[in-house]
This record gives sequence, C-alpha cells and structure tokens, in this order.
Amino acid sequence: MTTEMLRERLETVEQRIAQAAARAGRSPSEITLVAVTKKFPARTIRQAYDLGLRVFGENYVQEFEAKFPALRDLTGAEFHLIGHLQSNKTRSALELFQVIETVDSEKLARRLDQGAKPLEVMIEVKLSHEESKSGADPAALPALIESIRACPNLNLAGLMTMPPWSDDPHLTRPYFRQLAALAREHGLRKLSMGMSHDLEAAIEEGATHIRVGTALFGPRTK
Ligand SMILES: *Cc1c(COP(=O)(O)O)cnc(C)c1O
Repeated sequence: MTTEMLRERLETVEQRIAQAAARAGRSPSEITLVAVTKKFPARTIRQAYDLGLRVFGENYVQEFEAKFPALRDLTGAEFHLIGHLQSNKTRSALELFQVIETVDSEKLARRLDQGAKPLEVMIEVKLSHEESKSGADPAALPALIESIRACPNLNLAGLMTMPPWSDDPHLTRPYFRQLAALAREHGLRKLSMGMSHDLEAAIEEGATHIRVGTALFGPRTK
C-alpha cells in the first residue's frame, strides 16, 4: 500500500469520525482511533505512525511479538491487545502492550496483576449468545470489576465489546447502547466499540475508542 493511499483512507476515516461526533454533539478529540494492524507487517504500522497514528490494536500475542522488534523506536506509540488473551501468554503480553482491552476473567486479571507493573485494562463484555465469542457475561461484571479494582497494578479504564458481525449498523447499535449503559452504571469512562463499518453508530452511542482495520489498511489476506 502506498503512503498516499493510506493518507487518503485515514482522511476519510477522520471525516467519518468528525461527522458522527458532530451529530452526537461530541468533540472528535474524545475519540481515539485504534488502528487495527493484525495480519499486516511491521512496515504498515510504521507507515501509519509516520502519518501521525499513535494507537494500534493487535489480536494475537505471538504475531505482535514477531513484529515488535522492528517497532521499538516508535516513540509514543501505544499498543492495545484487542484479541483474547490466554493466561499462559500474560508474561509476553505484559512486555508488548500498554493496554489489554480483553480481560474477561478474575484469573486473567490476577495473572496480569502479578506482572508487578502498572497496566491499563478494559473488560471485554460478551453481549451476544454466540458460542465462539469470548468476553465476560454481563451478570458476572460486578464481581469481576470489584476484583480488578482490588488489583494494585491494574487500572480498570473501561469496557470493550465485539457485537455479532453484521454489515447493518442498525443491528449493532443496540449492543453499543447496552455497553454504554453498563459503563455508566459502573462508573467506567472508556468504551472501546465500533469497527470499520459501524464506527458512526458506536460514536453516536458514546465510543471513546473505535477499532478500525479494513477502512485504513484494506482487506486482510487469510
Ligand atoms: C479485526 C478487528 C477489528 C477491526 O475490524 P475491521 O472491520 O477490519 O475494522 C476490531 N476489533 C477487533 C476485536 C478485531 O478483531
């Protein structure tokens, strides 16, 4: 991908963010664009960094572990883990990521807390009944929040969700609304929700972090 192409796509995404924020009476500065770079090489992350992007989302610890040595010099870059974290990978995850968006169990939280370094986390909430999705059950949320808040090294910043995939934002909007209500109820400020095709609905429902891959980098190869 040429830098020119990426620059154009970034401008389009930024316009979409600005328009959705305006409709919702929000400032675009409240919304962080998390550039999702799974399946793309380190040089794509560097390209995006050179265009001013600073926050990146990766799904797989092992994949990012392989790219990271080529990215150490990107001062101020912030890497978020947005895929499920297996508890046997917490040690590597702690070295690679500044934010783990996908904490979904007390066991995982305890393991991350043992890293003995301050770490920002979000809880991934599972709002649908799809078998394959990870995330905490909303009913388990109060206990999970309490136990994470009791972890001295973890700073619980917010909630994240991944609704069932649909190309119709009308179908994902109710999930965004539900996540926002849960965050309000528990006094959590950050909301990571919305992707390439439904970021407008997410912003209108209060997203502070949108996770965008395809709209910036094009389709991922399998
Ligand atoms: C891949 C992925 C995204 C980005 O999806 P796009 O449709 O490519 O924007 C966002 N969030 C998570 C958790 C993902 O796995």
